[in-house]
Amino acid sequence: MEASKIISAPWDRLRDTTLLRTRNLIGGEWCSASDGGEHAVLNPSSQQVLAKVPASSEEDARRAVQAAHDAGKEWAELTSKARASVLRRWHDLILQHRDDLGLILAAEQGKPLAESVGEVVYGAGFVEWFAEEGKRVYGDVIPPHAKDKRIVVVKQPVGVAALITPWNFPSAMITRKVGPALAAGCTVVLKPAEDTPLSALALGELALRAGVPPGVFNIVTTAQPASVGGVFTSDPLVRKLSFTGSTRVGKMLMAQCAGTVKRVSLELGGNAAFIVFDDADLDAAIAGLMACKFRNTGQTCISANRILIQDGIFDAFSKRLVEAVRSLAVGDPLADGSQQGPLINEAAFLKVNRLVNDALARGADALEGASVHDRGGWFYQPTVLANVPSDATICSEEIFGPVAVLERFSTEADVVARANNSPYGLAGYFYSRDVGRCWRVAEALEVGIVGVNEGSISTELAPFGGVKESGIGREGSKYGIDDYLETKYMCFGGVA
Ligand code: ADP
Repeated sequence: MEASKIISAPWDRLRDTTLLRTRNLIGGEWCSASDGGEHAVLNPSSQQVLAKVPASSEEDARRAVQAAHDAGKEWAELTSKARASVLRRWHDLILQHRDDLGLILAAEQGKPLAESVGEVVYGAGFVEWFAEEGKRVYGDVIPPHAKDKRIVVVKQPVGVAALITPWNFPSAMITRKVGPALAAGCTVVLKPAEDTPLSALALGELALRAGVPPGVFNIVTTAQPASVGGVFTSDPLVRKLSFTGSTRVGKMLMAQCAGTVKRVSLELGGNAAFIVFDDADLDAAIAGLMACKFRNTGQTCISANRILIQDGIFDAFSKRLVEAVRSLAVGDPLADGSQQGPLINEAAFLKVNRLVNDALARGADALEGASVHDRGGWFYQPTVLANVPSDATICSEEIFGPVAVLERFSTEADVVARANNSPYGLAGYFYSRDVGRCWRVAEALEVGIVGVNEGSISTELAPFGGVKESGIGREGSKYGIDDYLETKYMCFGGVA
């Protein structure tokens, strides 16, 4: 820790201050950017500087890629059981330090402390799961097409995996990629988001303590994502890119990867529909929507973006939703009892403000909130809007903020068509007590994840990922490790 760089921070609450790393991790060493550049990490609640981290350049990215490449052979040659025991130790250390990791996360990201610790624990689950799953990377023996041949299929690590992660889950988005990559026998270079590098670096510190060998897990922070990203997507030593972030950047990175035909996994934007039918259990639907819409101040890619309520219950539902939203405690993420923190940065705050003002100007009704919060800064009031005209920008853009937009519908066919009328296809949710309808609608929604009478769907046990422009590949579950494996077919001849 470079204490002199910490200008204003809640770090006196950390039990283990050495978790606060503020340099790149390359080849097992903590190092500054090659040109000495730094960028500041802000606390979104106070806008004060928490720490300064390297503003790395292409040169640093190349060094990290080389380090990952150099460490690759030895790591891949370990038994899966040996890799699993390292990952298991990493998992245990993450849990042991959950409170400190949660504090770092809450300070740099702005989600309330309890929610931050929850993310750390959720994220650790991916490390545990993939430590086990790495032992079950089975191949195949296929009945041959000729008497003197034998056909064997094996799975091998893809090689160096470059990982680019977003700020909304600074801990879990990292373990969700690093866990399966390392379990599969890949080595990694990670570029965390500019706003939230400290959680990533703390995870790197614990990985070293767990015995992850030098060069197996490298981290490069930067304020110029395009230059580090350019190295990740063009360097021939990198064999795979796994990205979570916006569809705009994901498309660009996919195009960049075409030059060297890298494997790509993409977790991109969503535009989730949340549908409540007349026959729904309204208490359950309200609870599900509150979790799904307002968790992380609405800044998740599976947040409900379009809330479609059937005519018969529209008024009752909106009244109850407003009551629930009004009771949300907005406050400093580090203060006890806060349920909603600030938006991540000024751009996010301005965007939410712009979308709500545009909707109001076009005649939308503000049922609750709809303006900046008294706390000032990047805090926004939990908001409910109704009667929003379909040409309002908020109806087509991903909101990424604490704003619930309520729409009416009358028939099942109409609502399914509206839900599917989007280039995105990540998550969708609906509430109904009709069993036939539950099957029909779950099958008809064009998404990768469906919550049926459920608003919280994230777990390391299930495959997370989207269809259409929401992405390629799946994270978590038995499917998640496939993204880091190649399939090799070996034909043995002359056996007769
Ligand atoms: P958001 O809008 O949620 O910030 P982004 O897609 O911009 O989503 O960011 C997600 C991740 O992508 C972050 O780590 C960010 O630094 C990175 N990123 C943004 N632009 C680029 C780029 N041109 N090349 C590589 N990475 C990028």
